[in-house]
Amino acid sequence: MIYADCNASHPIHPEISDYLKQRLDSNLFANPNAIHSRGRQLLTGMEKARKICAENLGASPSQVFFNSGATEGLNTAFHSVLKPLINDGHRKTILVSAIEHHCIDEICRYWQSFGFHTVTLPVTPQGLIDMNSIQKTLKSLSGKVALVSVMSANNETGVIQPYAEIAALCQEYRLPFICDTCQTMGKLPIPFNQYPIDFAVLSGHKIGALTGTGILLVKSPASFIPFIMGAGQERGKRGGTQNYLGNETLAFALKIMEREHAQADKVIKARLEFEHVLKTAIPQTEIAGASSVRLPTTTMLGFPGIHSQALQIELESRNIFVTTTSACSDNEPSSSKTLIAMGYNDSIARSMIRISPLLSNAVNDYPLMLEALIKSYRHLSKISDQSVHPD
Ligand code: PLP
Repeated sequence: MIYADCNASHPIHPEISDYLKQRLDSNLFANPNAIHSRGRQLLTGMEKARKICAENLGASPSQVFFNSGATEGLNTAFHSVLKPLINDGHRKTILVSAIEHHCIDEICRYWQSFGFHTVTLPVTPQGLIDMNSIQKTLKSLSGKVALVSVMSANNETGVIQPYAEIAALCQEYRLPFICDTCQTMGKLPIPFNQYPIDFAVLSGHKIGALTGTGILLVKSPASFIPFIMGAGQERGKRGGTQNYLGNETLAFALKIMEREHAQADKVIKARLEFEHVLKTAIPQTEIAGASSVRLPTTTMLGFPGIHSQALQIELESRNIFVTTTSACSDNEPSSSKTLIAMGYNDSIARSMIRISPLLSNAVNDYPLMLEALIKSYRHLSKISDQSVHPD
């Protein structure tokens, strides 16, 4: 079996699974905010985890807020920036890119009811946010922008965005910058305090920790306005009893991912070879953002004329698990907005699947996936030929 859908959810690392089993068997439970020794023991463990996460992410422990994942983190960041601007008559524009995750679209829609509106930045055909356009937009909207929210890497194509340049521009214009780092945090070294990024997010399930865990990194915690009110947890900034065990798995997973990152160059080479050989065998293969720098293990590809769902099912019959566009929108009938923003027509966009194997297995997986893709293509082309020219 090849699981190649890590951009949707990464399997829990075996070491973490063992650790969890052992922790559950130990029957050590309590509220980490309780004053008795068991509570203090758990709080100490969680604070140790916070310190490890902070070190790994280039932040200080006071900038790390444990939560349920990137969606919550992004909602919180928007809330913290926009709430004080509700009665501001000028700063009403939210600047986002055309390829942000669906949750950003929904957050922007929510804030429309408070008088904010969205300006969408285009991307190039190679899937990169257009820097010229962002510069022009910032100049023309001077004094009207409330925040800029752009992702560090796209979840579908894996294209790594010019987040550092965008962060510097935001600093120049004194604008809050929210970076959806869900696909990079823990996967690529992006030290938080090296960049003028105001908010960054992490989802535990994208890095092999427990699902439903995550981190919001906040550059200036003192001025940060909470989104979930509670009983003072997370220094009064995120209510609700913490998922201490889940938060420990975040620290564990970040350490594992850091170790695995040593293989990234080898994996990128294997991925490029896989894409090259596939394109040589099937020249009409379309690879989204092929000449852009991408996440080491992400390929979005399609064979024009063959529907993505047929290819996905065919690969699944060969025990290879991939997805069509992003997992959250797998059941949606519409084409990927990322691919449409890159200029693909509807028919090619509907042929694309996303392949994102485990970094630790990728070098072995690519040759097997290559063989399966070629066989699947031949099989599906035969079927579509027969349906066009029935005997
Ligand atoms: N942002 C990006 C780029 C993502 O890929 C995802 C998940 O697919 C999210 C945000 C939302 O993450 P979660 O569902 O873990 O909250």
